[in-house]
Amino acid sequence: MRKCTAVFLIILTLSAFFQFPAAAEPAGEYPHYVQKNNSRYEAYRAANPWLQYDMVIAYVNANVDKGGYIGVQTADKPDSISVLVNKNFALPTNFVPRDLVSIGNGFRLRKEAAEQFTDMRTEMLSMGFKLYVMAAYRTYQKQSSKHSGAVSSSGLVSADIQFARPGHSEHQTGLAVDIVSRTGISLMSQAKFEKTKEFAWLTENAHKYGFILRYPEDYTNIHGFIYEPWHWRYVGVDIATKMYNDGIVMFEEYYGWYLAPDIQVKIRQERLMRVLPD
Ligand code: ZN
Repeated sequence: MRKCTAVFLIILTLSAFFQFPAAAEPAGEYPHYVQKNNSRYEAYRAANPWLQYDMVIAYVNANVDKGGYIGVQTADKPDSISVLVNKNFALPTNFVPRDLVSIGNGFRLRKEAAEQFTDMRTEMLSMGFKLYVMAAYRTYQKQSSKHSGAVSSSGLVSADIQFARPGHSEHQTGLAVDIVSRTGISLMSQAKFEKTKEFAWLTENAHKYGFILRYPEDYTNIHGFIYEPWHWRYVGVDIATKMYNDGIVMFEEYYGWYLAPDIQVKIRQERLMRVLPD
């Protein structure tokens, strides 16, 4: 018996008696890995064993593991086109976008989003599609009355999956628009927008205008709302296209890969180390 084989057998025998810790993930292979989040990665992975580890890292970096409305932080750069606003990141109460412009019928979006939305709508109408805006920019106060109205009529749990609490709505960013292909319809029939040719076109083309579907069907455990085929969010053409090309569905995942502040620091440090002499 060769010596190394004997050593291997001894280790194998010992391993039957001792519980060796699971091998650590090779953190260096994940550019978005943040050391201080390590115990949260492990806990989130244990709770979601089917999830790929790179997605575990991304979601934890975006605080998805904390649960809705727990450990709420103020959104980084509320003025940014790529701001993440959800049940964990809130806009300041008094936040009002500086550059709201009309998109018709009394609805407003921020200038860049409005221009891209108008171009997208023009292209869709030219192809014979129909498109109606149901909501766009909404103030903190308006969001507050919508949410509290839903709490009064159907209770907090039901309200929380239909409407964001004030400060947590993408509509307050001036970057989100609710669209359907028929006018004057109820929330129930709004959901049927998913079955339309307009929705099918948006799914394949909205990224070219910088828009993403924000509350997709199979990710309700991540975003915490009902499936909203009508709610589209402007994040800019670069981000929307990268998400489309890389198959990143959730903006939380994109944020956890590329936008979370700790990652930027880490990447900066790595760049710095690369240029330093050995
Ligand atoms: Zn909406």
